[in-house]
Parts: sequence; structure tokens; C-alpha cells
Amino acid sequence: MSESTTDYYTFPYKIQKVCVIGAGVAGLIVAKVLMDIGLNVTVYERGGQPGGVWIYSEDTGPVPLFPSTDPMISDPPEEVPDTESSCSSTSHHIRNVSPIYAGLRTNIPTPIMTYFNTSYPPNTPLFSNHEVVLSYLKSFVEEHKLNDVISYNMDVTRVIESENGWEVITKKLKRTENGPTQNDKQKIDLVESNANMEKIGEDRETIPDDNRKDISTHGSDDAEYVGEWREEHFDAVVVCTGHYNVPYIPEINGLKEWANTWPERVLHSKQYRRPDLFEDQPTLVIGSAASGSDISRELASTFKSPVYLSIRSISPLTNVAESVIVKPIVKRFIVSYSDNSNDYDDDSSNYIHEKRSIPYGKVEFIDGTVINVHRIIFATGFMYSYPFLHGIEVGNGKNEDVSKETILVTSGERVYNLYKQVFYIPNPTVSPASLSHAQALLISHVFASRVQLPSLTSMRKAYNSTSIDTMFKTPKAYHEFGTVKAGEYIRELLEWVNSSKNEEAGEKKEVFESWREDMHLGAKELRARELGY
Ligand SMILES: Cc1cc2nc3c(=O)[nH]c(=O)nc-3n(C[C@H](O)[C@H](O)[C@H](O)COP(=O)(O)OP(=O)(O)OC[C@H]3O[C@@H](n4cnc5c(N)ncnc54)[C@H](O)[C@@H]3O)c2cc1C
Repeated sequence: MSESTTDYYTFPYKIQKVCVIGAGVAGLIVAKVLMDIGLNVTVYERGGQPGGVWIYSEDTGPVPLFPSTDPMISDPPEEVPDTESSCSSTSHHIRNVSPIYAGLRTNIPTPIMTYFNTSYPPNTPLFSNHEVVLSYLKSFVEEHKLNDVISYNMDVTRVIESENGWEVITKKLKRTENGPTQNDKQKIDLVESNANMEKIGEDRETIPDDNRKDISTHGSDDAEYVGEWREEHFDAVVVCTGHYNVPYIPEINGLKEWANTWPERVLHSKQYRRPDLFEDQPTLVIGSAASGSDISRELASTFKSPVYLSIRSISPLTNVAESVIVKPIVKRFIVSYSDNSNDYDDDSSNYIHEKRSIPYGKVEFIDGTVINVHRIIFATGFMYSYPFLHGIEVGNGKNEDVSKETILVTSGERVYNLYKQVFYIPNPTVSPASLSHAQALLISHVFASRVQLPSLTSMRKAYNSTSIDTMFKTPKAYHEFGTVKAGEYIRELLEWVNSSKNEEAGEKKEVFESWREDMHLGAKELRARELGY
């Protein structure tokens, strides 16, 4: 990558053709602003429609690993076949199911969940369900004719850095007319149980090459699809694949044994849809953010059995229902077939007496208390994962040096080496970030050379000054600004973008309206008034 003699970074070639990966909230706005500025855009979306996480599905997807702490094991790169070799067809399956649950209401008001200069239809509820958000996104696609540049059912399996850009390899999933042959059937859907999941990465099944085609399952209809591979060159790539795909499930004493003994009695929030799908049994939900609060509330409102919520720390998203019993951090899970629960139960002994025939597991917390539960739901979040980025350092963070200047993802808690949370410093022609409208505008203006990035040295210096670990309580907090800081950040990016606007030539400056910030600041109280929680 070259630097000019001034303190600015210059791309080694002119950026004209840009690949956007993903057609969720981020990918759609990136595509629009890149088109607006006159660049040639292609969006690859592995699903059949736009909307990303806002596409609700009754399909709960494959069972994750318990524990799941390493993105490279839980979400390994998919093998790309060449004409001589073989390939496997499992990994796309894990990423395609949205974690949205049926009862979800937006946690911030819909007026501030919009792109700039757009709004939801009149009378839209302030805290809406997934259908409303999806419909807004689909209208945005229609209005801006984004379907002209989106290729659906295109799974990006490799992005390879080349001398003058990036080679993007996609797998097109085509629904087959006929069902698979018996031989094909043996090749598909390896992901059925924890036991099977654990084999991924160490015991991958190989499939004989058939003119770069392979058989996969995809989507919620159990239909069979044929994968066709294609490679295309781009000058730059914007990664908008989201970060609610790969469950994070911490390693806790006894968890593996519990999951092996009762695989159907442990799940991640990504697999939760509705309370009525579960038998009324004592349940422990782990995690105090939005999903943990919502899921424990929904279960407690339909169950007679106790619902516990294990909380590590209170965050702005914590919102515990009164009927939920709060517990501290779990120390260990105990697999026990004994039905004599008297010694163990602190909070629900009467209930346990009535249900002696059911083999409960036990959970011990760090305060020494022990409860009997039937089911555990981990609402412990997700990991950043970019398995298709080839040649960029992504891997298991446990032993990796996060001060390295090339590392992108380690344990999946955060993304490293991004300038202004957007541009990968070692090569700013790729942007693997979670993108808002302001960030998308910055990308389009930088790629179109309307504004310039500082030199690599200056970007590095700026990054280092905001990356000192002590500045953030947890690595994850690095991407979470809080409302006030988010406002400052958005204004900073827009000021930069606006510095290139020629108002005399009719170019309008971008504005971040202060009412959006005010509404965000008051969102929690507003939600409590509107929804009662
Ligand atoms: C349970 C839950 C509740 C939430 N509630 C709110 C809320 O109330 N308000 C709010 O503002 N935000 C909420 N969010 C955050 C929400 O995820 C973001 O608002 C936003 O939708 C993220 O958009 P995205 O485009 O970054 O990612 P996604 O929506 O995840 O979209 C990514 C897209 O990329 C595609 N893709 C992934 N990998 C590939 C590949 N290799 N090749 C091709 N395509 C690929 C996916 O199919 C998907 O369509 C919530 C998230 C969750 C999980």
C-alpha cells in the first residue's frame, strides 16, 4: 500500500468496482451510497431476500457447540473446490438463521432505527416487531432499486487479496428440481447434534468434485440446493455480514457433560423462538443483556415453574421482570439423576417436591447457592467471525498477540486494527465492520477519493491511542460507544464527509439531527412507558 509525500494515504489504484457482502441493514445503505457516488457496486447475499437478522424464521438452525469460544472452530472457513479437489458443505448452514424471536420488540424507537432522511410509515408503533422493520428495509430496497445490484443466494466463501484488489469467490445456491440421490443424501446436513457439531473442523467429510458443484441444504424449507462456484475481481470489498451469527457460549465447569447428557435441554438464545414451544419446566437463562432479559420475561410469563436469570453485570440493556429470580454467575453445572432435590434447591423446593420423577440437573453459583433446573438457555451473545477473509489474520485469540498490526479477529470479542472502526489499516480497500449510515458515507467518499484517509502512520497512531485495553472495561466494549459518544462519533464522520461537499454546485451536506440523539437517550424510559418493560 502506498503513501503520498503528504500526510495522506493514497490507494495504489483507482477504486471503481466494489463488492458488498450481505444485504442486511448495513449492506443496503452501503450499496446505496456507493451507487450514489457513482461507483460500480455488486452485493452478494447468501439468503434469498434482503433484511438480514430482521427475517424471522421458525427454523432454529443447527445446534451450536457447548462451549463455543473460538470463531475458527464454531464457524470454520468453507473449503473451495478446484477442478481436481474435493469440498465440504456444512459451514454456510450455521450462519443463515436469524436469532430474532417472535415476541421481540425493537429496543430503540423505530424513528431512530432509520437511515438519514427516511422514516417509517405514519402510525408505526414506537417499538415495533420484526415484520415492521423488515417491511421498512424492503421498501428501501424498492425505492432505491437496490435489487438491480444485489445477487441473492450467493454465499461468499473466500475473499483473497491480490496485487490490485480482491478476488471474491462465491457459491451460488440453486434449488434442485429433483430431490438428492441416496449418494448425495450422505453428503448433506452434517450438522444435527452436538456430537456432530464437535466433529466439524477435525473430521470434515469430503465430497468428490463434480465440475465445481456441490450439494448443500439451505434455508428453512429443507429443500436441496446445488452450489456453483464463481470468482470475480473487485477493487474494494465492504464486509456487511453482521455479527449475530456465531453464538458465544462460555466454558463453564460441567457444561460439556450436561450438553452430552441432555442435548435437548441446553440451547443458545439464537435457537429460542417462542415460550409455548417449551415444556413448563424450571429454566435458567444466562446473560443480562436484551435477549436474556426478554427470554426470561417471556418464559416467566407463561411458566408456572421458576425461571432464573444469571447476571454477571447490569448493562443499559438489562431489564429483569419481577417474576424472574436473579442469580449470580454460574460456578458449575452438575449432571445428576437423583430426584431427591431437598439438599440442593434454594428457591423452588415446593415445586421440586411435586415433580420428583423428573431428573433435574443442578447448577451451583459463585455465591454457593444451588438450584435444580431442567433447561439452560445461554443468552451470552455472539462472536465476530469472518471465515471467508483469506490471508488476513483471523483466528483463535487465546494465544494471539492483539498488539500485532495485522490481526483482525482473535477470540471474536472485537475487531482489531480498524481506523475509525471502519478501514482495515494494513489494507484500507477492505472494510470489515458493522456499518451505520454515517460510516457508509465515509466509505463511499473515501473510495471515490472525495476525502482522503490520513497516512498509514497517522492511522496507526490514532488507532493505538484508542486501543489501549485499559480504556475499555471489556474488549467487546470497544465497539459500544454509548449514546453520547456515538453522537460525537457520527458528527465527526459527517463533518469529514461534508468537507468534500460543494454546496454551490447543489451538493447537500449530511445532517445528524439532534432529536435522534435525544430520543436515544430517553429510549429506555420511553420503552417502559410504551411496553410496560
Ligand atoms: C435479537 C436481536 C435484536 C435486535 N434488536 C435491535 C433493535 O431493536 N434495534 C436495532 O437497531 N438493532 C437491533 N439489533 C441489531 C441488528 O442486528 C442491527 O440493527 C442490524 O440489523 C444489523 O445489520 P447488519 O446488516 O450489520 O447484519 P445482518 O442483519 O446480520 O445482515 C448480514 C447479512 O449478511 C449476509 N451474509 C452473511 N455472511 C455472508 C456471506 N458469507 N456471503 C453472503 N452473504 C452473507 C446474511 O445472510 C445477512 O443477510 C438486534 C439484533 C438481534 C440479534
